[in-house]
Amino acid sequence: MGSIADNLQAVKSRIAVAARAAGREPGAVTLLAVSKTHAPASIREAYGAGQRAFGENYVQEALDKMAQLAGLPLEWHLVGPLQSNKTRAVAERFDWVHTVDREKVARRLAEQRPAGRAPLNVLIQVNSSGEASKSGVAPADVAPLLAAIAAMKNLRLRGLMAIPEPGAPQSRFREIGDLFRGLRSEFGLDTLSLGMSDDMEAAIAEGSTLVRIGTAIFGLRHKVKDAA
Ligand SMILES: *Cc1c(COP(=O)(O)O)cnc(C)c1O
Repeated sequence: MGSIADNLQAVKSRIAVAARAAGREPGAVTLLAVSKTHAPASIREAYGAGQRAFGENYVQEALDKMAQLAGLPLEWHLVGPLQSNKTRAVAERFDWVHTVDREKVARRLAEQRPAGRAPLNVLIQVNSSGEASKSGVAPADVAPLLAAIAAMKNLRLRGLMAIPEPGAPQSRFREIGDLFRGLRSEFGLDTLSLGMSDDMEAAIAEGSTLVRIGTAIFGLRHKVKDAA
């Protein structure tokens, strides 16, 4: 692989090609750099190449990096599972959470978001049909959860997120895209977080507005020492 700057450029080209093939503007798809297990120096390098939005999976790992990168105007997204005992740190330090799957967790985030900060941007994680993962809300339960969260202050409801299993058929991406399109206007949603290094084209074809890219930018992941 090339340098992080080269990799970012290559990923942006893939996004642009996929967007145009789908009749969409390349600018309609946001690139989130997923930096889990990668050192702050790599994030700094990506920042130097113009990247601003970074995704992390583990709260403690993210807090450590935020401390080391304090001073850089980065936007932090939590893309990993969120336990209710971690909500305070997330409400205080992150800009986005992609993995809300329970009203209780949303309520805690709303209560714990500091008054002086912009509302926390929230996505609901959807568990599409046949997904082995236990996290995420069943499609039929998404609308009621959206309605509950829409009424909470300090949160800004932005949309849906999903993690189709590797090699998932295009129909799986379509199912999630259809769910998003069906709920978008009612709840004022603008974000569909869908697509990773190996499937960003399939996701963009089905309407993804934000792709979460790790390996294609930073290379293979290091072993996680202190997952929390
Ligand atoms: C690790 C991770 C990614 C990035 O995956 P790559 O295949 O490395 O691009 C995206 N989303 C989530 C939720 C992840 O955990």
